[in-house]
Amino acid sequence: MTTAINNILQKDALDRNDLITLLTATAPADIELIRSAAEKTLLAKCGNKVFYRGLIEFSNLCVCDCDYCGIRKSNHSVNRYTLSKDEIIAAAKWCAEQGYGSVVLQSGERRDAAFTDFLEDVIAEIKSATASEKLPNGAGITLSVGEQEPQSYERFYKAGAHRYLLRIEASDPKLFASIHPQDQSQERRIDCLKTLRQIGYQVGTGVMIGIPGQTAENLADDVLFFRDMDVDMIGMGPYIVHNATPMGVYAGYYNESKDRIFQTALLMIAVCRLALKDVNIASTTALQAMRDDGRELGLRYGANVIMPQTTPVDVRRDYLLYEGKPCIDEDAAHCRTCLEMRIRSVGREVAVDDWGDSKKALRKSKSNNNKNNMEGTMPIVMIMEGPPPLRGEPYPTL
Ligand code: SAH
Repeated sequence: MTTAINNILQKDALDRNDLITLLTATAPADIELIRSAAEKTLLAKCGNKVFYRGLIEFSNLCVCDCDYCGIRKSNHSVNRYTLSKDEIIAAAKWCAEQGYGSVVLQSGERRDAAFTDFLEDVIAEIKSATASEKLPNGAGITLSVGEQEPQSYERFYKAGAHRYLLRIEASDPKLFASIHPQDQSQERRIDCLKTLRQIGYQVGTGVMIGIPGQTAENLADDVLFFRDMDVDMIGMGPYIVHNATPMGVYAGYYNESKDRIFQTALLMIAVCRLALKDVNIASTTALQAMRDDGRELGLRYGANVIMPQTTPVDVRRDYLLYEGKPCIDEDAAHCRTCLEMRIRSVGREVAVDDWGDSKKALRKSKSNNNKNNMEGTMPIVMIMEGPPPLRGEPYPTL
């Protein structure tokens, strides 16, 4: 097999069969070849810097009922919370003071007017509260708040968010349908990704690896989906069972398949790096949930982004998307020192006071600016005719 793998690794463009061969490698020597090729591509295309995005999980209220997710609306054992504006801003300021150039604001999904107004306000305030000599335009803000109306995406963008993460979860429509209730459509999610791009966001997507019924062909198609959608960032991680969800019935399957799921998640990072070259790829917390050194391994397989946990400790255990989530007791300062040590241990360096946009996004914005002869301008905000309105359940005013 080693020769076949070597031949694939010599190619510049990988086809579907190549992706499948790489994703199904099992011999340790083959896996090491793939890993080191991905690491080499990363260092050549993106450099050895690791970008931090301080993760602020600001609310676990959710109108969705994803079959895998611990904070789904039907899980009534969850203690629901929403951080106050001051708490969110304090967390973002702490990140900026530590030299984290960016934050991620993540929450369950809500689409009511109170939520939209609140988040728009929070974004604008983070921008002004984090602006300094080191970060003249304030911290970079990535949003991860699910499917929203185009008008809401536009308002968040205008308020200062410039990156958006929305995972497709599974690019195969049947696999997607097998883990979501009927009223959650994959088409709508794809429309959302397109709208985000049209507005001007840098767009990230990703999948869960190890969904029951998922094949290597599905994963290869996921990589092709990322390529065709021309995304700037990838956030993927292993699927991990949460017992209080409909997919809790897969606990047996999951326990038996853990090692394979973990190894495949690492291979997916490497294959995405080899196929997509200069995108940002996150080494996600779910990798560390499976193995203590999971996130360092993600970096060694070609990832270059880490999202240190900066959610206030008292609510962290209420944001359990899956079981065994790490770092739920450590405070943010502890997470910071611990992570830095882990990153240095794999020969990489932490970027300081840097938004950390992907080389791909920077390359694209440069060529757009050249085209328009408007150096340094932001993309033009433009709203297309959107999909029909989403259903949103009312929540009390924040
Ligand atoms: N509501 C937002 C963000 C919160 S969920 C959204 O849907 O985009 C963020 C991600 O957590 C999801 O995209 C999903 O891929 C991941 N996730 C949820 N449950 C999980 C589980 N049981 N195992 C692994 N990842 C999970």
